[in-house]
Amino acid sequence: SLVPDYLADVLADVASDTSGELAGYIPELASADPDRLAAAFATVDGEVYGAGDIDAAFTIQSVSKPFAYALALSDRGFPAVLDKVGVEPSGEAFNEISLETGTGRPRNPMINAGAITVHSLAGADDPEPGARVERIVSGLSAFAGRPLRIDEAMCASEMDNAHRNLAIAHMLRSHGILTEDPRAVVDGYIRQCSVLVTPRDLAVMAGTLANGGVNPVTAERVVDAAVVRQVLSVMATCGMYDAAGDWATQVGIPAKSGVSGGLIGALPGQLGIATFSPRLDEHGNSARGVSLFERFTTDMGLHVMDVP
Ligand code: GLN
Repeated sequence: SLVPDYLADVLADVASDTSGELAGYIPELASADPDRLAAAFATVDGEVYGAGDIDAAFTIQSVSKPFAYALALSDRGFPAVLDKVGVEPSGEAFNEISLETGTGRPRNPMINAGAITVHSLAGADDPEPGARVERIVSGLSAFAGRPLRIDEAMCASEMDNAHRNLAIAHMLRSHGILTEDPRAVVDGYIRQCSVLVTPRDLAVMAGTLANGGVNPVTAERVVDAAVVRQVLSVMATCGMYDAAGDWATQVGIPAKSGVSGGLIGALPGQLGIATFSPRLDEHGNSARGVSLFERFTTDMGLHVMDVP
C-alpha cells in the first residue's frame, strides 16, 4: 500500500512547525515530549496504516468525550441524556463555565461542563463511582479493540489542579444537573481523561465511529448506528471548541481534539483518522494536527460537503 509512504511524506512536511505550546495547567502534561508526531488511518475494512510515533502512549483527555457520550446514550437512552446535556455549539473554550440560562444544562457534551455530566450518565443508573469508571474504561477499550488502562500519575496530577472542573461540577450540582457528590464525579471524569492510548488506538476508535459502531478490526458491535449518528453530528458542530467553524469549512470532517495533542476525525463509511502532536494552538487544538488534517482533506478530497 502507498498509504504509509504518503503519511510519512505529510509528516515530514509539517515536522519543522514548532508553533504552539504544551498545555500548562496539568503539570504531568507540561512535561510531555513536545516533538512526538504521528498520523494513523483505520479504514472500515479493518486496515490500519500509520507513520511516525504511532505506538507512543499518551492520555486521551478530551478525545474521550465523544466515546463517553456514545456510552451514556447507549446505557441510558437518548431522552435521559438529552434532558441533561444539550447539543448546541457554544463557540466557547473547552473549560468555559457555561450553562444554558433557565435549565442549567451544559450546552453540549464536548465542553467540560457537558462532558462531566455525560460521565455521570455512563453505566447503570446510580452505580458506585468505581463501577462507572470501569464501565467507561471497558467501553473505550471496545472502541480501541484492546484493553486500555489509566495513567495513575497523570490522574493524580490533574486532580491536584482540578479547581476549575470542580467549580463547574459544583455549578452543575447547584442546578440539579448532577445529583451526586461533585468531587466524586470530577474524580471519575479525570480518570476517564487519563486513559492511555496510542495514535493507532485512536485511529481504530475513530474507525469504529466511521463504521457505524462496529469495530472494523475486531468486528465487535460497540454501539448502535443511531448513537454514532448523534455522536458524529455533535463532533461536527462542537468538536473543535471555538474553532469549530474554521474546522467545518477548511477540513470538513467530524472531529475531536484533546489537550494532550491527540486529534481524531471520522469520515462515515470510509475511515477513522488520528494524529498526535502535543503543541496546541490558541484554541487548544493540536497545531500540527490541524495542519495534517488540512492536508488530508486537500490531498484526498475528504470534506464531507464536497460533491463526489
Ligand atoms: N482533562 C482535561 C480537562 O478537563 C481535558 C481537557 C481537554 O482535553 N481539552 O481539563
